Order: sequence, then C-alpha cells, then structure tokens
Amino acid sequence: MRLDRQIVLLTALLSGLLALSMGLFGLFNLRSAHETDMKRNRLLLYEQCDRQIRMQVEIALSLLEGVYQQQVRGELPPAQAKAQAAQLVRSLRYGEENNYFWIDDYKGTNVVLPIDQQAEGKNRYDFLDYKGTPAVQLALEAGRQPGGGYFDYWFPRPGEGEAMPKRGYARAFAPYEWVVGTGRWIDDIEREAAARQQQKERDMRSDLIGFVAISLVGLLVTVGMSVLLGRRIAAPIRAMANRMRAEAEGRPSEYPAEADGVEEVRELSFAFAQMTGALKERQIALVRQNEELSALYEEVSATEETLHEQFKLLLQSEERYRTLAYYDVLTHLINRTRFKEVLEQRLLEPDGTGTLLYFDLDNFKEVNDTFGHPYGDKILQMVSQRLLAATPQETTVARIGGDEFTVLMNSADTTAVMAAVEAIQTAFLTPFYLDNSRHYLSFSIGIASWPAHGEDADTLMRHAELALYDVKEKGKNMWRVFGIELDEALRKRRRLEAHLGEAVARRELFLVYQPQANAVNGTVSRCEALLRWQHPEDGLISPDAFISVAEKTGLIIPIGYWILEQAALFALRLAKRQGAESAISVNISAVQLADADFVAGVARVLENTGLPPSLLELEITESVMLADWQDSIDKLRQLRAMGVRIALDDFGTGYSSLTYLHQLPIDVLKVDRAFVQGIGHIGGRTEILSTILSLAHQLRLQVVAEGVETEEQVAFLRGSGCDFIQGYYYSRPLVEAEYAAWLKRRKS
Ligand code: C2E
Ligand code: MG
Ligand code: MG
Repeated sequence: MRLDRQIVLLTALLSGLLALSMGLFGLFNLRSAHETDMKRNRLLLYEQCDRQIRMQVEIALSLLEGVYQQQVRGELPPAQAKAQAAQLVRSLRYGEENNYFWIDDYKGTNVVLPIDQQAEGKNRYDFLDYKGTPAVQLALEAGRQPGGGYFDYWFPRPGEGEAMPKRGYARAFAPYEWVVGTGRWIDDIEREAAARQQQKERDMRSDLIGFVAISLVGLLVTVGMSVLLGRRIAAPIRAMANRMRAEAEGRPSEYPAEADGVEEVRELSFAFAQMTGALKERQIALVRQNEELSALYEEVSATEETLHEQFKLLLQSEERYRTLAYYDVLTHLINRTRFKEVLEQRLLEPDGTGTLLYFDLDNFKEVNDTFGHPYGDKILQMVSQRLLAATPQETTVARIGGDEFTVLMNSADTTAVMAAVEAIQTAFLTPFYLDNSRHYLSFSIGIASWPAHGEDADTLMRHAELALYDVKEKGKNMWRVFGIELDEALRKRRRLEAHLGEAVARRELFLVYQPQANAVNGTVSRCEALLRWQHPEDGLISPDAFISVAEKTGLIIPIGYWILEQAALFALRLAKRQGAESAISVNISAVQLADADFVAGVARVLENTGLPPSLLELEITESVMLADWQDSIDKLRQLRAMGVRIALDDFGTGYSSLTYLHQLPIDVLKVDRAFVQGIGHIGGRTEILSTILSLAHQLRLQVVAEGVETEEQVAFLRGSGCDFIQGYYYSRPLVEAEYAAWLKRRKS
C-alpha cells in the first residue's frame, strides 16, 4: 500500500479511537452526573413542597391572628370575627390557584373546606375513612403538636371520587380551637418531578449530540489533513523514486534536493507530532475541564446543602423565637422569660424596692381532669382577666406556668402588699361560670420582697416559691411571706431525704410505746407504737418531720413493714413478760395503704411473728381514706376479715364528718387532742365531744381519747363514756425497757 494511504489510514484509525474514547468518557461522566442530579431533584422537590405548605399555613395563621386581634381590641364581636376569619381562609389560594386551606375544630367538625362546602359544619370523623383512619384525626394529631406538624393522608381531588395520597401540614389556632391546614397531592409533586426529569433528559441528549458532532468534525478534519500531509510526505519520496527510476533507465530527470525532501518529511513528522501533541493536550484539557465541572457541581451541591441546613436552622430559631417569645399564647399575659427580664430590670434600679407575689391556683388539676384541658384553658383565661382587673395598673402580671401566675409590685411596704393580696383574694370570692358549671377558685400565694428577701431575680423567685410551697402544705387558699426558716427547713428536709435511706440499716430508727388506759378502771392492756429517729447530727427527730419525707421517697413501704414487725414482736415479748395479752396499735400512712401488696404484707408480718391478728390495730387517718375511697374501704374490709382491728386516728381534725362515719369499716375512733384540750376551757368543744362519744357508741365503735394531760380531762372523759385514755397524764411514749418498768410500777 502506498505510504500516503497508510498514513491516512493510521491517522484516521488513531483519531477515530481518540474520538471514541473521549465520547465514551464524556457520556459516562454526563450520565452519572445526571443520575445523581435526578435523585436530588426529586428529594428537593418533596422538601420544597413541605416548606411551601408549612409557609402557606403560617401565612394563613398570621391572617387569622390579625382578625382575632381585632376581636381582642373589641373592634369585632367574637362571632363576627370568627365568621370573617373562616371566610378569609376559605378564599385563600396559592400555587397554580388550585391549592386551598381547610379548617377543622378540635372536635373534628369541619369549619372550612373550599372544595366541598357541603362538608362544612359536619363532623369529619365519619368521612373518608381510608385504611380505618379518618384524615381529620391525622390532621388534628399533627396540628395540635406544638408548632404544628406534617402528615400523610388520602383525599379526593375536586370533581374526582377517588382519594389520592396527599402530603399535608396543619397547625392549631388556639383562640378558636381550630386546626388550619393545607396539602398537596403526591401526584402533582411526582408530575412536576417527571417534567423536570424530561427537561433534564432533553438537555442531556442535546449535550451528547453536540459532543458526537464535534468529534465527527474533528475526525474528518484530521483525516483530511492527514491526506494532505501524507501526500506532502509521499511527494518527495515519490520524486526521489522517479529520479532513481530515471537514473536507472538513463533518462534525464529533475533532481529535487534530497535535503529538501528529508527536511519536509522531518517537518511533516514534526508537525504531525505537534498535532497529536496538541490533540492530546486538548484531551487533557477536556478531561480537566470535566473534572473542574464535577468539582464545581460538587461545590454547588454542597452550597445548596449548606443553604438547606441554614434554612432549617432558621426555621428552628424561628420556632425557638416563637416559644420563647414574650407572651403567653393562652392568656396574652407576659410569660416567665419576659417576667424575669422585667424583674431583673427592676432590680437594677438604685435603692429600689418591690414585691414578688407568686400565685398558684388551688385544686386546678381537678378542673382539668374533670372538664378537660380546653375547658381548663378557658378558665385560665378568665382567671388571668380577673387577676388583671384586681391588680393596680402599674403592677406587672405574668403567667409563668400551667396555673401559676406572678405579680410584681412597686412596693415592699407590708400594708400595701397585704392590701393587694386582699384585693385579689376578694376578687376570687366570686365563682367562675363556664358552660353551665360554677367553679370556686382560690389562690395560694408566696411572697418575697426586695431587698429583704433577695437581691437577684433567681433568689427572689425561689424564695417566693418556697413560701408558696409552705402555704400549699399547710392547707392552701392562704398567703405567706418568705422567711429564712423556710430555706432552712428545705435544707433540713433535703438532708433528711438524703439520710433516711440509711437510717434503718444504721439502726437509727426505733419505736416508743405509749400506753392507753382503760377509762373505767385504769388498767393498761394496749398501747400505740410511735416512730423515732435518732439522727447522728440533728438529734431526735419527730415523725411529723420525716414521715412525709419517707412517703415522698417511697421508703415508708419498707420502713412500714419494719415498724409492723418490731411492734408485733414487742407486743409478744410484753405478753410473755406480763402473762397477759397486750394489744398494739400501729400508724399506717396513705402511701402504705395505697400499695397493692399492703393486705398481703400485713398477713405476712402476722404469720412471720406469730402475733394473733386480734392484737393488732392499724391507725389510719381520714386523709388516708380520701386518696382512693373505694380501694381503701376494700383493703380495710379485707384486713378486718383477717381479724385485724382498724382505728380512725385524729378524728375531729381535717374533713371529719359524723355523717359518713357509719360507712367506714372501723372498730375504734381516736378523738384528736384538739377536742380533749378544750375540756374545762370556756368555748371548749365539749358538747361536740359528747355528741361524738354517744354517736360512736351507737355505731358500736370504741373511743380512745388522745393527748389527755390533766385530771379534769380524765374525769370528763370517764363521765362521757370514753373507753380508753392516752396521753401524758398517764405516760409519755416510752422505749421498751421503760414501758415494762412503768407497767410493773403501776401494778404494784
Ligand atoms: P398520732 O398517731 O396522732 O400520735 C399521737 C401523737 O401525740 C404522738 O406524737 C404522741 O407523742 C403525741 N402525744 C401523746 N400524748 C400526748 C399528750 O398528752 N400531749 C401532747 N401534746 N401530745 C401527746 P408523735 O409521736 O410525735 O407522732 C406524731 C404523728 O406521727 C403521729 O400522730 C402519727 O400520725 C405519726 N407517726 C408516728 N409514728 C408513726 C409510724 O410508725 N408510722 C406512721 N406512718 N406514722 C407515725
Ligand atoms: Mg396514731
Ligand atoms: Mg392522733
């Protein structure tokens, strides 16, 4: 084959291969880039949809808020404001004019549904029950989360019967108890994704065609050039061959300069090398460009991701801003955050004084539990209104928690503070009426003034709260001013809490026994066991100070069984020593009786110790009964069926009512010290005491009088038919050895 043709063929082959590999390389790169692009696009589209529907709902809510504010300002009557708000939402559209909003109320009744206004006013729970879950339920669940929520549901397009999957977002508008929402059909999102995909594919195809075309043109140019070049390379060689042939045949011939020909070949090969070099460089440049492009793509996606991230953060901080915002959504009073700021500002004023009143509604939990939270919310709104009305203009009123309010006064003057407290208490004497129910509400109030009770906001708040807790503990509907002893009491309580657990193991707990004498003949065959704690640092601690700690920590359960066992063993030892039976009375706390295992636990103690049940008496108080009336009655009946006796302790304090006494499964009534102390005093409640005694006897209950200290009291009680007498008159509570000695002394 001729050299020039060989060159052409070789060049064509080489550049063809080059073009093909470049084409494949490009194709591969483009395809993979487009594929990841596609996935991202779909994901982004869904996220975009989420953001869009959330934003739209927020816009709708801010419009609602606008109308509602007109109502609050009194510019619109409530009914009209509500109707106007609904109409506003009904008319709203976004996107391609076919996206709308709906409203359901908290009960599931539809308020607005622009595409099917027949549904308005109807309950939606029985509508569109797809897969057993009504769409409205999903919407309410999502919408009533704080800050609203997304949900997936099925809903028919307007004019089409069949329900289609939809992505929704809903959020509550609390003042009207509405949940406002909107949604987009998944179908629409998919359609948009498909459209975008098609566009991308079209772009990709034209990219490829362009690429192939350029490669082909390049190929043609290269081949054309190689033809020319080949000829130019071949020409001098052929000329040389002609001359040589002519030389051989002896013909004269034009002799081209050999050096010229060689030079040309060299130049040609040089140029060829240059060309291939250039082509290679161009390929490298192309590859690099491609790399740069993908790096750029990477970078763009990264920025997009950061942007996305930032958007999320923005939403979060917006959310935070909303929850931390200064106003309480329910009552429109300032919230805890703002209140603290106001307090801090006031504390900065030089030589300033002021008072912080910390309010807590008494028994508000019952309103919530009985009537539900939305109802409770309305009551709270009424409470805040009344609180505002009862306080002077210049005071700051805040809602800082569920049923907790604070009031900030400019003065620390006792008279002024008491006047303010009285005004508020008087305002709450009038009951609250809502939905045909009447509620009497009262406040417990803790009070702290500055500079006396603290000079920074945290301390003042804590001290006012401590005073409040003390009020709550002592019986509610009262106020108290903080005193340093509260802080000390709290510290002591904390210390007791920390040590009580080890007290049993360290044998710091022990029992003392107080005799109960027969009122008629003075003989003693029964006593009450009373708990003591010998604390290594605080000395002897009375049960009044630590039983509540034991109850709170749950330690009363194990300690309670220990007490029962100790008391039973004591009674047995005593009987053995005396040669006669002795009954023992043991105090039982509410937490113990509430324990499901209690009856079985008592039976276990009796079995383990061998104490006959008839010798054990359990003392309970009325407040114990009140915790869970039926459960308490059931357990007491079971205990009595076992032969154990039940005494009602501290009768006459607390909720005492003679009328329900006959309903209680008890054997003994322990009349509280308060009644006994009245004996012999002017205005003493001796008449009531006589009545209690005669009623108790009609009910076949034995009566024990507690806290009997004087001869006079003993005489009266004996005369009134009291059965047993317990008190310092006979003896203080004694440790076992003292008790035995005391008994012995009495007998002789
Ligand atoms: P309580 O069951 O009503 O006990 C009577 C309290 O009155 C005892 O106080 C007793 O020492 C005291 N007292 C007795 N006679 C007189 C008197 O003539 N004058 C005066 N001023 N006081 C008298 P204590 O021992 O401090 O117990 C207080 C309360 O602690 C008891 O009231 C009881 O509710 C509770 N408690 C005591 N021991 C236990 C126990 O083992 N378990 C439980 N759960 N509670 C207990
Ligand atoms: Mg007692
Ligand atoms: Mg008592």
